[in-house]
Amino acid sequence: MKIFRDIVEMQRWSMEQRISGATIGLVPTMGYLHKGHLSLIEEARVDCDLIIVSIFVNPTQFGPNEDYGKYPRDKEGDIEMCEKAGVAAVFIPDVDTMYSHDASVCVIENSLSQGLCGQSRPTHFGGVCTVVAKLFNIMQPNVAVFGQKDYQQVAVIRRMVQDLNFAVEIRVAPIVREHDGLAVSSRNMYLSNDERQQALSINSALNLAHESFFSGQDSAVEIKNLVIRQLHEHCMDVDYVEIINGFDLNPVETVQMGDVVVVAAFCGKTRLIDNCIL
Ligand code: AMP
Repeated sequence: MKIFRDIVEMQRWSMEQRISGATIGLVPTMGYLHKGHLSLIEEARVDCDLIIVSIFVNPTQFGPNEDYGKYPRDKEGDIEMCEKAGVAAVFIPDVDTMYSHDASVCVIENSLSQGLCGQSRPTHFGGVCTVVAKLFNIMQPNVAVFGQKDYQQVAVIRRMVQDLNFAVEIRVAPIVREHDGLAVSSRNMYLSNDERQQALSINSALNLAHESFFSGQDSAVEIKNLVIRQLHEHCMDVDYVEIINGFDLNPVETVQMGDVVVVAAFCGKTRLIDNCIL
């Protein structure tokens, strides 16, 4: 497995692979890899000849009071996991490599980024779009795989790809959960035992929403209240609960099949997100 820290070397290698006819699947991550990330690698493997995993804790997608500094990192463990997963190359740049001190261009998506996580984290999606655009230019992938867990992120990236004409196919992999239903996340390592028990209420609330909808409830307000009550009963601090159209991400009043229940909630200081496509 190749390990690249330099942009030009990474770019040159990727171009050589493309010229030789190989299809490249990119899995962008912030590292501290888990089975959710591995599922994206598996998805890329389906029809890509080579898989590149990028590992970069991107400072520009964190707000000033967020957890950039203490975000979990384990470069050696990550490299080992990639090697075992049959990844062809890992791109693991430093911050100074990715951003020159006078960088002055960024990519902003102005519509889908506004609500939900974009409301609580106003600079987040600008950081995400900019780094993903850079990764696409560096790695030149045919396919890039993202997780449904970050539902809004996928929608924003699809929009960026469409509007800026990136020749990259965006694929989405389902949410991987722990045996008890908690969505796997690098941030779960922040949770104490008690908090982890509380956090299970996110999945149970989403299950309630699902059951309620498929038992005939189609009022978004009613379903949202059910979810919020369940979260409050477990002392979660709700950032947002919304039922949205899966394409334009606008909140709906009458719920239909294909709409998405999206949740962001704090468990102690840890902000967790999850969702369920109805
Ligand atoms: P992150 O390293 O948290 O930025 O995540 C990198 C990619 O992995 C993103 O596309 C996430 O949506 C995806 N991902 C994170 N957690 C999961 C999960 N539990 N199941 C599936 N994909 C995930």
